Amino acid sequence: MVAELLKGKQYLRILSPYPPRRARLAPMSEPLTTAIIVAGGRGQRAGEGIPKQYRPMPDGGGDNVLARSIALFAENPAISKLCVVIHKYDVSLYDISLSHCNNTDKIIHTFGGDSRQQSVFNGLKALAASKPQTVFIHDAARPFATPALIARCLESLSDNDGVVPALPVTDTLKKAENGLIDQTVARDGLFRAQTPQLFSFDKLYAAHQTAPEGLTDDAAVAEHAGLRVQIVTGEAQNIKLTTEEDFLMNTQILPRTGSGFDVHRFDAPGSAAEIMLCGTGVPHDRKIIGHSDADVGLHAITDAILGALAAGDIGDHFPPSDAANKDRASSVFLAHALKLAAARQARLTHIDLTLICEAPKIGPHRDAMRASLSALTGLPLSAVSVKATTTEGLGFTGRGEGIAAQATATLLIAGDA
Ligand code: MG
Repeated sequence: MVAELLKGKQYLRILSPYPPRRARLAPMSEPLTTAIIVAGGRGQRAGEGIPKQYRPMPDGGGDNVLARSIALFAENPAISKLCVVIHKYDVSLYDISLSHCNNTDKIIHTFGGDSRQQSVFNGLKALAASKPQTVFIHDAARPFATPALIARCLESLSDNDGVVPALPVTDTLKKAENGLIDQTVARDGLFRAQTPQLFSFDKLYAAHQTAPEGLTDDAAVAEHAGLRVQIVTGEAQNIKLTTEEDFLMNTQILPRTGSGFDVHRFDAPGSAAEIMLCGTGVPHDRKIIGHSDADVGLHAITDAILGALAAGDIGDHFPPSDAANKDRASSVFLAHALKLAAARQARLTHIDLTLICEAPKIGPHRDAMRASLSALTGLPLSAVSVKATTTEGLGFTGRGEGIAAQATATLLIAGDA
């Protein structure tokens, strides 16, 4: 029985320098640190669509803003319990956020009120039964806060009732009326408050019960109750995603490179006078056999673009079994891939193509091919490379049985696309 209890984390044996008359066991009071994430706002300033806390993370992490803010606390071993305050209409969006999170057994949710202050109060009520010692209050819209900031707050609480991360104001402050400057406000001693803000649970809970309406953060609630709140250095990157511009500025643009490869067979000598390569006619006496116009260069480039988008291959989009693709100009395939890129807000920035054949000779037609590719893709000539090689008489290209092409395409793609 005793051994069993000793195994449990919640019991600590009190050791005494004197031989005990009998073993004494006392419950160990682990400081229960909790967190409230305020996610009940409608986030209208960030533009149309779903509330900003449910939008994809602009840095391309694949999660959304709320999920990132939840992870900051749910994955921190110092935090025992977490209450997310959501809008009653957002339950299904919240479930999607939770699907990105670990340690969901720590997480409860409650519904927000008419104001941020009311929402925090609802969160405090939801946590009160677990008798926490301390509580972090964090805005869901600040997903870039780091574990180091949480640690700094915890270290600084000691004798204080609360800790607030803040940065000194560095811009010159102006007071204006109707757009006209009235005066310059001294910035000495002025700070920009951030979250997470850490408080003694009981003191903040009591302060909320007597606070007037209209306070914009919990430091203001604490202040009103005369609590002692310490400032710790905040984090410059810990911005609040508020406007569309905030999202755009924090969107990571990532380069992605795709590769494409294609082979087509030549028909018998005398089967053609001209073949299509890179969207331009090249004199050659052997037709390239294919379902479409068999432009091997455009096929390789189209596949390279699809590759950068991870959007399958040309055959998925234009099956040879589809009669509509018979003798089709391959520029249609390329245009389709570029349209898919545009839909993902991805921009083609470079293509590099190598044609592999003994004949026709590519050199004399290289500039015409580059000009054609530039016109088809909108790329400047300086970003369009066409190269050629033979295979020294080896293999099917060496025997002149066919022509091969390989291409790479580089796209810049928004991280969250
Ligand atoms: Mg092909």
